[in-house]
Amino acid sequence: MILYVVVPCYNEEDVLPETAKRLRSKMNDLTGRGVISEESRVLFVNDGSKDDTWNIIRKLHEENPLFQGLSLSRNRGHQNALLAGLMTAKDKCDACISMDADLQDDINAMDEMIEQYTDGCDVVYGIRNHRDADSFFKRSTAILFYRVMNWMGVQMVSNHADYRLMSRRALNGLAEFREVNLFLRGIVPMIGYKAGEVYYDRAERFAGESKYPFNKMMAFAMDGITSCSIVPIRMITSLGVAVFFISIVFLIWGIVQRFRGVTVPGWSSVIVSIWAIGGLILLALGVLGEYIGRIYLETKGRPRFLIDEYLS
Ligand code: UDP
Ligand code: MG
Repeated sequence: MILYVVVPCYNEEDVLPETAKRLRSKMNDLTGRGVISEESRVLFVNDGSKDDTWNIIRKLHEENPLFQGLSLSRNRGHQNALLAGLMTAKDKCDACISMDADLQDDINAMDEMIEQYTDGCDVVYGIRNHRDADSFFKRSTAILFYRVMNWMGVQMVSNHADYRLMSRRALNGLAEFREVNLFLRGIVPMIGYKAGEVYYDRAERFAGESKYPFNKMMAFAMDGITSCSIVPIRMITSLGVAVFFISIVFLIWGIVQRFRGVTVPGWSSVIVSIWAIGGLILLALGVLGEYIGRIYLETKGRPRFLIDEYLS
């Protein structure tokens, strides 16, 4: 079985040498035991890094054919970098394992992933046992995110990041999803086929800083919601229906008051209604705008990544 390990890297010069070292010994061990074939590779995807990452990858490739490098034309974000790697590996491997460069995911979980693949799973999710290594903030926002996604009917595997094995068949399935607004964690369960799970302890980042600051995390969450669910639009509809019924109540009340002859100036109620309804309309427009903006991007069908160089 040919295994490709795909590792997206963005400004990871601090951690990359150690990641390469550990992956090399892991891959050698797997090859030695005959679990994977000699043609298995580690594919580092350089996502337009501004530091020395690509040079390090280049050197690794020169020293050892185990390491391949793929460089994107510019920074396209984690999901696109990962996709670029997976799509490059798809025709060369029997299965692919994607993993972050920062060694937060336990590479020893790979053994079990491969075992489950051999037992017939097409997708094997790596799932964190706990989140002790994350900050309180990251942990609580993550829990909230899974709740919201679940409530919006998006099938997602809780506490699973992008550490997973995908068979060639699953990768070919993924290739059929042509969306620009890419949220792999939502798409992979849609592919179907038999799936398995492997649990592991997530460590702290080995070196360097998180490449997901708050604003990127929010954008990621928005992409996740809008690319997998239209519940927010339905909520607007329900809200509209609710406001309509409330307005009927007010209408009746207004007529009754009129005939009772109690016609007060009513400045407060008018001003409150204007602001409340105005706010709701703007919110509704904003939600619709989020979707329309994405439709706009999808219709353009721009490439999700461009490859600058492939060291194979
Ligand atoms: N990453 C990337 N492009 C980006 C941002 C991140 O390829 O624009 C990579 C990064 O190098 C790492 C992985 O995505 O391998 C996950 O990023 P990180 O560990 O910073 O995220 P966190 O674990 O903090 O959520
Ligand atoms: Mg990380």
